[in-house]
Amino acid sequence: MMAGIPRTLLLVAAGLGLSSACGQMNYDSERQAMLEELREESRQSEQYGAPPLSEPILEVIARVPRHEFVPEDLRRYAYENRPLPIGAQQTISQPYIVALMTDLAEVTKDDVVLEIGTGSGYQAAVLSEIAGRVFTIEIIEMLGRRAADDLARLGYDNVTARIGDGYAGWPDEAPFDAILVTAAPEEIPEPLIEQLAVGGRMVIPVGAEDEVQILQVLSKQEDGRVIVHNVTAVRFVPLTRDEN
Ligand code: SAH
Repeated sequence: MMAGIPRTLLLVAAGLGLSSACGQMNYDSERQAMLEELREESRQSEQYGAPPLSEPILEVIARVPRHEFVPEDLRRYAYENRPLPIGAQQTISQPYIVALMTDLAEVTKDDVVLEIGTGSGYQAAVLSEIAGRVFTIEIIEMLGRRAADDLARLGYDNVTARIGDGYAGWPDEAPFDAILVTAAPEEIPEPLIEQLAVGGRMVIPVGAEDEVQILQVLSKQEDGRVIVHNVTAVRFVPLTRDEN
């Protein structure tokens, strides 16, 4: 027994320590629980032709703090497998879709990756964990700035973010080993096809805003030809165009 300190005070102190440790642990355990949901959705989606999520991508999802990329008042939902609003009528994508798109892009550690539609920055953080460098473009200034700040604060320092219309890609940094487009155009932007490296893959939802869009994977062959695979039906916010 520690001298002079009333037992109740010790208990209170221990209780406080415990609750802050739990606060930390909760996100960890919620993130683990989300992995189970992702495995379940992966099993179901296989029936519709989607490839199963790989173990490495689940390990990456288990490392990235999604709660840091959602508005504070929605953090308690951060580890549910669903999209959430992030302001400016945009959303952070559903974790299953982030995992699926990342898997389909087959990114390896020296790859240079382009993302169109930074949004919250979460997808860029996931890519940052497995790629050499990540370039990401957001058309809405408020979102792009906030995501860039969050990514820097969390130490994702191989990510470079800028504001602009991603339709035109990022010619100065091309070619890209992988391109992920996280907003849906009606047709695949020609500049993005040009900026894809030979042997590279582009993962992109294609279709009109009020229709079901198709998640497609394009791979560029040695002879420059492009092969397109349809993966599954998805729903994304539209890829908007800069008026200028
Ligand atoms: N990848 C994001 C989710 C993006 S939601 C995440 O992980 O949170 C799609 C985003 O694409 C929105 O933020 C939207 O503003 C942006 N967007 C739409 N059209 C765009 C364009 N032409 N260029 C760049 N970003 C665009």
